[in-house]
Amino acid sequence: MRSNLSPVRGRCRAWRPAPKPDGHPSGHESGSCRVCWQPCFADRSPGTEFCTQCWLLLAAHPAGRVRSGLASRRDVPLDVLEDLVHEMSAPVAFSARGHLDQITARENRRDTNDRSGSES
Ligand SMILES: [Zn+2]
Ligand SMILES: [Zn+2]
Repeated sequence: MRSNLSPVRGRCRAWRPAPKPDGHPSGHESGSCRVCWQPCFADRSPGTEFCTQCWLLLAAHPAGRVRSGLASRRDVPLDVLEDLVHEMSAPVAFSARGHLDQITARENRRDTNDRSGSES
């Protein structure tokens, strides 16, 4: 009998780029082409909606639009985001940099709060 410890909701929600989209040009929208994109049901990476492999596959996707979309996701893992900052494609790097700055600003604020709380 299965316990309640692993609820079914922890499945990856990404469309995963197909390993071999026969003859299809890159640039088909995720979800609109079932040859280029396949649903993924792997376990999610903690704190995100995608599994670790989808994050890596999408971060390496040839379409810049896919990568910049990834960079602006709220749940993007920090290591994936940091890779995208060093991207050759300016729009992708730009949106990754902007998002990374937001996260850093948020964490600095949290650090300041923690410190003032523990020193009193
Ligand atoms: Zn296609
Ligand atoms: Zn996945």
